[in-house]
This record gives sequence, structure tokens and C-alpha cells, in this order.
Amino acid sequence: MRSAEWKENKKGNGKSAELLLIPAFETVPNIRHGFTTRANGLGARIGGFKSPDDWNLVADSFGIAPDKLVTVQQVHGDEIVVVKGNDYQDMRPRQADGLVTDSPGIAIGIETADCVPVLIMDPQTPSVAAVHAGWRSTVKRIVQKAVSRMQHEFGSDPSRMIAAIGPAIGPECYEVDEPVMGPVRGAFPFWKEIAEARGNGRWSLDLRKLNSRELVQAGLKERNIHSLGMCTSCRRDLFYSFRAEGRTGRMLSAVMIEQR
Ligand SMILES: [Zn+2]
Repeated sequence: MRSAEWKENKKGNGKSAELLLIPAFETVPNIRHGFTTRANGLGARIGGFKSPDDWNLVADSFGIAPDKLVTVQQVHGDEIVVVKGNDYQDMRPRQADGLVTDSPGIAIGIETADCVPVLIMDPQTPSVAAVHAGWRSTVKRIVQKAVSRMQHEFGSDPSRMIAAIGPAIGPECYEVDEPVMGPVRGAFPFWKEIAEARGNGRWSLDLRKLNSRELVQAGLKERNIHSLGMCTSCRRDLFYSFRAEGRTGRMLSAVMIEQR
């Protein structure tokens, strides 16, 4: 897992959407991606990106119509939806926590405020995935399922995939107890590498590292996995944090194959 720098992408008139970008994604032609921040109050409303203005602004950053910025109803499960052709119009009511597509001009996105956002691409097919990995979905191996869905649907090859792990709560701020640690221990024999005892039955859990391990397990090369390494709870100047703030906004993480 390598750390990555970020840069701003200011756009729009008046209000602007700042997108954090992973350099390794930026160098791939025809792929656009970005992680929004809370700068300028973007995504601030309860429930996040339900404001049409914010939605339009992010879609504009991707150079697409607002209805082509596609999300689903996230439920902390392991369902992955395939977006193909004109399917994008039917996605918003679907209950899922990951999207994959090889259709150009459709940005697939997920919303988070502590959970781990993971964007994946195979530059060659090309095909992309956006995954919402909270602890429940992580235990259900959601990133592995997204990768295998890309293989199955698009003939993608994990050994050439590039993944970006966006802003998420860091282990120093993510203390969990037995109801979380029990399933984590059960699912991951290497759990001691991603959890540290804090005493009194409490553990600090590194969900970003855990998802990085899962990506390697799915066949990605470690050098192709990039993490912003920024904690949503520590950096509340930049991000929303559900743990730290309770009812709060959401960031959007999205990826798209450009229309040629
Ligand atoms: Zn932190």
C-alpha cells in the first residue's frame, strides 16, 4: 500500500467542488475519478448529496449530465450492481454497496463519512468499480466481490488493476468492541495485523489496511494500491466524520470511463 498526494480541482462558478485525486489514476488516459471534501459545504446536508446543486456541481466536474452520476441505496451489505448501457437510470433505488461498469460517460459513486471508499479500475478493458466498505461489508469481502465481478462481467484482470483507497477513519480514531472484533477475527486469520488491543475489551481497527489486504487477496499487486492515508475524524477541516460528529454530511467518491 502506497500513500498518495492530493490536489484540488476547482470548478463551477461561485461554489466549487474540490476533488482529491490519486496521481496514479490521473496518469491513466480516459479515466476520471475524485473524492469530494466538505470544502464550501459540499455534501453538508443530512444524508449528504441529496442537494441538486451539489449533485450538479460534482457531475459538472466530471463533465457529465447529473443523471449520469450514479449511486445506489447503501445498506452495509455485499451486493454489487453492474451498470450497463441505459441501466444507469434504474440504479438509484437499488440496495447495494458497490457498482461496476464498463460503460463510458457514466460516473459510478458511493457516499461515505468514515467508511472506506474504494475505487478500482482496469485500464485495459477499461472497467471501473466504486465500493463502500464499512466494517460489515468488509467482513463480507465486498472488495473481493467487486474485483471478481469485474473479471466475470468485463474480462478484467486483477493483476493490472489500480485501486484507490479514499478518506476513511484511521485506526487511531476507530475503536471497536467485541460485536465488531468477533466477526473480524472469524473472517480474517491475520487479524492481529490490522487490530490492536486498547484494553477493556476495546480494539483499534485499521479498516483501510484490511481492505488493502483484501485487494491483494483478490489478485491486485500491492504497488497498484494507493491510499490517501487521511483520517476523516482527525481531518474534520476536510471531511465529514460520522463517529466524531453524529448526524453530518457525506463525501462522494466516484470514477468514470470517459466518453471518446
Ligand atoms: Zn484519526
